Amino acid sequence: MKNLSVSVRYIKGVGPAKMNLLNRIGIDTIEDLLYYFPRRYEDRSNIKSIADVRPGGFETIKVKVLVLGARATKRGMNILQVAMGDSTGVIHATWFNQPYLKDKFKVGQEAVLYGKVEGYDCLRINNPEYEILTGTKEDSAHMGRIVPIYPLTEDLTQRWLRNILKFSVDEYTGSVTDMLPNDIKDRNDLMLLKGALQNAHFPVSGVVLEKARRRLIFDEFFLLQAGIAIKRVGVGRDMNGYAHDIDGDMIRRFRKSLPFEFTNSQEKVIKEIASDMSKPIPMNRLLQGDVGSGKTIVALCALVITAQNACQGALMVPTEILAEQHYKNIETMLKNFNIKPVLLSGDLPVKERDRRRRMIEAGEADIIVGTHALIQQGVRFKKLALAVIDEQHKFGVTQRALLRSKSINPDILVMTATPIPRTLALTVYGDLDISTIDELPPGRGEIKTFYFQEKNRQKAYGLAEQQVKMGRQAYVVYPIIEESEKSDLRAAVKMCKELAALFPELKVGLLHGRMNSSEKGNIMGAFKQKKIDILVSTVVIEVGVDISNASVMIIEHAERFGLSQLHQLRGRIGRGKYLSYCVLVAEPNSDEARCRVNAMLDTQDGFKIAEKDLEIRGPGEFFGTKQHGLPELKIGNIVRDRQIMEIARKEAFELIEKDRFLKRPENKAISDSLRKKFDPKDLALSTVA
Ligand code: ADP
Ligand code: MG
Repeated sequence: MKNLSVSVRYIKGVGPAKMNLLNRIGIDTIEDLLYYFPRRYEDRSNIKSIADVRPGGFETIKVKVLVLGARATKRGMNILQVAMGDSTGVIHATWFNQPYLKDKFKVGQEAVLYGKVEGYDCLRINNPEYEILTGTKEDSAHMGRIVPIYPLTEDLTQRWLRNILKFSVDEYTGSVTDMLPNDIKDRNDLMLLKGALQNAHFPVSGVVLEKARRRLIFDEFFLLQAGIAIKRVGVGRDMNGYAHDIDGDMIRRFRKSLPFEFTNSQEKVIKEIASDMSKPIPMNRLLQGDVGSGKTIVALCALVITAQNACQGALMVPTEILAEQHYKNIETMLKNFNIKPVLLSGDLPVKERDRRRRMIEAGEADIIVGTHALIQQGVRFKKLALAVIDEQHKFGVTQRALLRSKSINPDILVMTATPIPRTLALTVYGDLDISTIDELPPGRGEIKTFYFQEKNRQKAYGLAEQQVKMGRQAYVVYPIIEESEKSDLRAAVKMCKELAALFPELKVGLLHGRMNSSEKGNIMGAFKQKKIDILVSTVVIEVGVDISNASVMIIEHAERFGLSQLHQLRGRIGRGKYLSYCVLVAEPNSDEARCRVNAMLDTQDGFKIAEKDLEIRGPGEFFGTKQHGLPELKIGNIVRDRQIMEIARKEAFELIEKDRFLKRPENKAISDSLRKKFDPKDLALSTVA
C-alpha cells in the first residue's frame, strides 16, 4: 500500500514549481489530487471526420495543421487563423486575442479540436478547445475517450494536469482505503471506491461515470451525515433543560378562546413542540411554514405552556414593527389569562426600560417580546424556559449559544417562513429537529400576481386606487437595500409625494427604517385603523406584518429583490377573504432577474419558491454556507443530489445508532475520514445563521 497523504511532490513529473501551483489550488497531497474532480467532461470518444460534422453543433474533430497566419485588426485585435484538415475536408479555426498561440501550432502537427462548428460551405470553428497530439502513448489520456476537463489556475495546462492525474490514478487508486462497510455498498448498489475514483477521472463510459459519481457523492454525504448524527447523539442532548408540564387548564382554555380551529398541520407541530418541551432535554427545533400558515399562534401556544409552568418565555423578532405588532396581539389574546406580556422596544425612555427589565428579572413578566438585539443585550431573566426566535435568517448560531449561556437551558424554537424540503432542512439545520406546517388556514383569498414594466406603472396605481375605493388598502414597497443609502430613501420619499399628488383624495403614508420605533408604531397603527389607504414603505414590512384588509402589494424595482424576499412581501396580502393583487413593477435586465419574476408569476407555494431560489442562487449563497458551517463539498450538491443525501443520511444514522462515537475497530476508517475531510469545527454543524 502506498501512503497517499504524502506531498504531490512525490509524484513523477511534479517538481517544486509545479508543486507550488498545485498547492495554490488546494492540492497538497496525493489524496487531494485524486479528489480533485473534473469540472466537466468532453466526449472525445466520438471523434468525427470533418465531412460528418453538423454545423451548429459542438463537435470533436481530429485534424492536421495545414497553414496558419496571425494578423492584427485595425482596432488592435489579434487574430490567429489556422486551416486544419483531415482526409475528408478542411475547417478554419480562429482564435482571438491569444497571440501566444501562434507558436503552439506547427504545420503538419496533429490536434484535437472541440467547439461549436459554424458555416456550411466553408466550415469554421471559433476559439475551440484544443489539444495538440504528440503521437506518443500519452495521447490516449486526451483523445478517443471521455476526457476530463479540470478547473485550472494560470500556468497550469489542461494537458499537464490530465497527464499527472492519469499517472496518479493508475499508480495510486489501488492504495485508497474504502471506508464504506460492504453491507452499505451492497444495499445501495455502490461501486468500489477504487473504480469510482478511476472513472470519475477517466470514465470508460457515460453510464459508469454516473455510477462513479454516485459513489463519491454518497461518501461525501455519508460523512457529512455521520458528523451530524454524532453531534445529535453527543453533547447538548444531555444538558439539563426544563421539563414542562404540557397539559393544564390554562393551555386548554387558551385553545378554546381562539376564534378558529387549528389546521391539521398546526395540530401536528404543536404536538411535536409540546412533546419536546415536556422532556428534560432542551428543545432545539425549527418550525418552518409558508407565510401566513399560522406559525405565530403555534408559538404562542408554546409560550402559554411555559407561562402555565410559572416560567418565562421570550419571543424574539427581527424588527421593531413586528415586536410591537406581536406584543399587541398577545396582549389582546391573553387579556383574560393571568399572563403578563412585556414589550422591550428599542427607544424606551431609560427609566421605563429599566422598570421593564426589573420586571423581567423579578419574574413579574411572563412573556417578553422584543427584537433579537434587545433580548440579547444584558437582559436577565428570572426563569427563562422557552425562547422563540422568529425568522431564522437573521439570527445566528452564536446568538443562540449566547442565549443558552445566559440562563438555564431554555427550550429553543426557531421559526422560518422560507421553508425548504425536509432532507435539505435536516442537513442544513443539522442540529435542529424540524417541524413543518404544510397547509394554509382555510378561507384565504386568492392572490393574483402581475408583472408590469415601469412604463406601465400607472396601471398598477390604477389597481390600487380601484381597490381602495372598494374599501381595501394597498402597500407600495420601494427597495432600499441599505437603509443608509440616502438616495434610495429620497426616492421612496419622492414616490410617496408623487402618489399623494396623483391621488389627492386618498391618504398616503410613508414608513421607513430610519424612523424611530414610536414613529413606525404610529404609522402602522394608522394603517391598521384604515387612516392610511396607501402605505409607501421600504422592506421594513417584509416579515410578519399582518393586516388582513390590505389587498394590493405593488413592488417597485422588483428586479432588485431576492426571490424569497418577493415572496415574503407578497405574503403581506391575501390574509383576509378578499381577492388580492401583487404587482411587480420591474425592468428585469438579467436572466436571473427574469427567472425570479417568472417564478413569482408561476407559483405561490413557499416550498416551490424556496427551491427555485436555491436553484437560482445555488446552495452556497442561499444558505450562506460559511455562516452555516456546512463543510465544503467537492462533488456533491445538496440540492441536485438530494436523493443520494436521503439514503446516505439513513445509512449514516443507522451506523451511528449502533456505534455512537465510531469507536469500533471496523469503523475506524470512517472515523479517520471524518476527521480528515471535515474541520472538527465544521462538524459542530451549528447551522442557523
Ligand atoms: P405566519 O406567522 O406563519 O406567517 P401568522 O401566524 O401570522 O402566520 O398567521 C396569519 C393569520 O392567520 C393570522 O391572522 C392568524 O391569526 C391567522 N390564523 C392562524 N391560524 C389559523 C387557523 N387555523 N385558522 C384561521 N386563521 C388562522
Ligand atoms: Mg409570522
